[in-house]
Amino acid sequence: MSDAVQTQSTPNAGFTPRVFSGIQPTGNLHLGNYLGALKRFADAQNKGIESIYCMVDMHAITVWQDPVDLARATRELCAGFIASGLDPEKSILFNQSQVPEHAQMAWIFNCVARMGWMQRMTQFKDKAGKNAQNASLGLFAYPALMAADILVYHATHVPVGEDQKQHLELTRDIAMKFNHDYGVDFFPITEPVIEGAATRVMSFRDGTKKMSKSDPSDMSRINLTDDADAIAKKIRKAKTDPDPLPDTVEGLEGRPEASNLVNIYAALADLTPEQVIAEHAGQQFGSFKPSLADLAVAKLAPISAEMSRLMQDQAEIDRILGRGSERARDIAAPILNKAYDIVGMIRS
Ligand code: ATP
Ligand code: MG
Repeated sequence: MSDAVQTQSTPNAGFTPRVFSGIQPTGNLHLGNYLGALKRFADAQNKGIESIYCMVDMHAITVWQDPVDLARATRELCAGFIASGLDPEKSILFNQSQVPEHAQMAWIFNCVARMGWMQRMTQFKDKAGKNAQNASLGLFAYPALMAADILVYHATHVPVGEDQKQHLELTRDIAMKFNHDYGVDFFPITEPVIEGAATRVMSFRDGTKKMSKSDPSDMSRINLTDDADAIAKKIRKAKTDPDPLPDTVEGLEGRPEASNLVNIYAALADLTPEQVIAEHAGQQFGSFKPSLADLAVAKLAPISAEMSRLMQDQAEIDRILGRGSERARDIAAPILNKAYDIVGMIRS
């Protein structure tokens, strides 16, 4: 975890550091999810901070999910967490719908968040598209549920990709308004942890759009389940400009596709973009892309193989999710009880 976790900022001085993050089981787990989330979770695991990671199936159904696919994607995501290095004994791994406290806290937050706040959320606008009137109410309320996911554990730190920054700001606004309205200091003001070379991995087809599970083009992303040939082909065909790599990172400015590939290389190799540029300055993409493909295959192939192995034992995955849910509820239930009490809702 980042230094931010160790150097607790004053607003959360009274709270035990605790990490929470979630990923949607919407299939197509990709390189952006790995570098922006999973790899960072695994890197942070041995810092001795309690960490809770959730397969957010309730967020997934804010847009239509085939039931069979959703169940499969949830198990595959759990396999993805473990294959990326998360240890279900050290971290708490579970699926959101098995811990009803998330939905219960979300209702309180639906009553704290303001319509105007929600209407500013760019993810809703992107996902609802032109047909916003036909989007689900759940898609609109999504950020209040996300605030509940985090705050029902009093999580102080949330490692995410850059795209979740606005939702994290909303989470802070909800915590502050709750604390203010009820005259308490109950919820921490959560710190987003957005760091590393690949906090925003871009689509291979359009360097201005983030890589996404929901992008209809499979060539836009590397899936964690892709084999070596598919990975190499997608990198070879990734959109780039005709110029060679520059001598300095500043030279990448205004070259979104080139900086995307350099950042991916850096994140996969645990280097800084500066180090990658120092090594590859002046190279044409014709030679940089094969080096990147080799690196990506070396790092991702073992993950993909481990995911398929784990997917063969569905009962074991379900057991891990069940056990994780129990551990999560042990933390969430007393916090929810206290929130009900603050609000004046009787639990007898
Ligand atoms: P969807 O398109 O269904 O929203 P997604 O690809 O955005 O899927 P999420 O489940 O919404 O994936 O996000 C899971 C985590 O991965 C979040 O922390 C998010 O910030 C991170 N993430 C998603 N896309 C990227 C990306 N392109 N680069 C870096 N991090 C990313
Ligand atoms: Mg997303």
